[in-house]
Amino acid sequence: MAAMAAMTLSKDARDFIDDDRLTGLLAGPPADPVRVREIIAKALAKQALAVEETAQLLRAGTPELIEEIFEAARELKRTVYGNRIVLFAPLYIGNECVNDCRYCGFKRSNVDVVRRTLSPEEIRAQVEALENRGHKRLILVFGEHPSYDARFIADSVRTVYATKVGQGSIRRVNINAAPLDVEGFRIVKEAGIGTYQVFHETYHHATYAAMHPAGTRKGDYLHRLDALDRAFQGGIDDVGIGALFGLYDWRFEVLGLVSHALHLQERFGVGPHTISFPRLRTASGVTLENEQPVSDADFKRVIAVLRLSVPYTGLILTAREPAALRREVMKLGCSQIDAGSRIEIGAYTEAGDAQQMEREQFTLGDIRPLDVVMRELMQDGYIPSFCTACYRLGRTGEHFMEFSIPGFIKNFCTPNALSTLTEYLVDYASPETRAAGEKLIREEVDKLPDEKIKKELIGKLEQIRSTDERDLYF
Ligand code: SAM
Ligand code: SF4
Repeated sequence: MAAMAAMTLSKDARDFIDDDRLTGLLAGPPADPVRVREIIAKALAKQALAVEETAQLLRAGTPELIEEIFEAARELKRTVYGNRIVLFAPLYIGNECVNDCRYCGFKRSNVDVVRRTLSPEEIRAQVEALENRGHKRLILVFGEHPSYDARFIADSVRTVYATKVGQGSIRRVNINAAPLDVEGFRIVKEAGIGTYQVFHETYHHATYAAMHPAGTRKGDYLHRLDALDRAFQGGIDDVGIGALFGLYDWRFEVLGLVSHALHLQERFGVGPHTISFPRLRTASGVTLENEQPVSDADFKRVIAVLRLSVPYTGLILTAREPAALRREVMKLGCSQIDAGSRIEIGAYTEAGDAQQMEREQFTLGDIRPLDVVMRELMQDGYIPSFCTACYRLGRTGEHFMEFSIPGFIKNFCTPNALSTLTEYLVDYASPETRAAGEKLIREEVDKLPDEKIKKELIGKLEQIRSTDERDLYF
């Protein structure tokens, strides 16, 4: 069996979360509306907010002021990011785990869970099933276990990239796995990964200790907080952070996320590529005592405040949330969603599109097939995108480019979204989805401002419709 990564820290690692300071920033009377409006204006001027400013947004006290925050987040999404939503699917590779996170169905003390790790052949079968549904972007998910060392993760990534069926291919593989050491991150980077995600779960030290027993690897707060610093030192500049909402006060976790983003920005000159904000779900073998569930109304505030605070960062909304809520909160600034997701190991071939299997890590809220989600997105005026062009052309930080380079979205992102959407419509869509998509494409092509790009795009779309040429990007 392979050895676990050494528990070494990055050079100059430090714990940058000061609980008392963050708690203090949230205490006191509701924020002054004048100050809140100034901060909203700063965010709409596309400037990142300080932790203190984020705290003021979180302290907005009246429904009217909270609605102003929502409206600002919607406006930033509309005017800055436009109407594209990137789609991906999770692929669970193995659920062996040495940790005992109180909230997770994969924890080692859960004797009911069926432990399983996909073989390379099984990974290929899952990937073929995902490609046959139209997916182009995956996130591979792993428990923490000696068998899942950096080489195993890198090999799994290579297996995914090498699997192609019909017109299908996976063009970007992201990772959600345990923190590695610097050398481990170097090894997975070589396999051509996209984003490496590590969620800190809760930034609150006492809650972290209660959720992650001492003596387990994940029980070491600083080792986990420092994970993505090590990733940067191992050459990975595309990282994702996240918190599991529902373990502690949601406002504190938002400040933790913003502190983490600013820390990476200051230390490495690049903030996180994405932020995830999963809400706690029920899981087999899990009973928690001191949960702090986040209501739907507060969940909307989490997303809106993050949208305003960390403008260069993509926001990921997962299928843990039910379909109707996803539809509503997407407008507040989410840039990526998963669709057609299954999280039981092997489920893409063993459960099919219509069923949810029983022994998952946690339950999902939205299990609709990709085709249905695509159609609903288009009916709501979004362009579903499978674009991976930035990553393939070495343009890392796609959200940073979208945000900071004038004209980037109209000249690159939208045309690439339309060409990957056309691939989906031609190769995988149901007749209804294809009809909805063709209508949307006509409207969106008409709106493109640059005639040269418009003409070139029309040529590329025609090529996709009439030949086997694929993967034509700007
Ligand atoms: N084992 C790795 C780790 O812990 O970082 C990665 C995989 S873990 C399966 C991915 C994420 O699932 C965790 O970081 C946690 O935020 C989330 N998760 C765990 N239990 C959950 C639950 N009951 N409801 C919602 N999300 C959960
Ligand atoms: Fe293991 Fe990750 Fe689940 Fe914790 S959250 S028990 S580390 S799989």
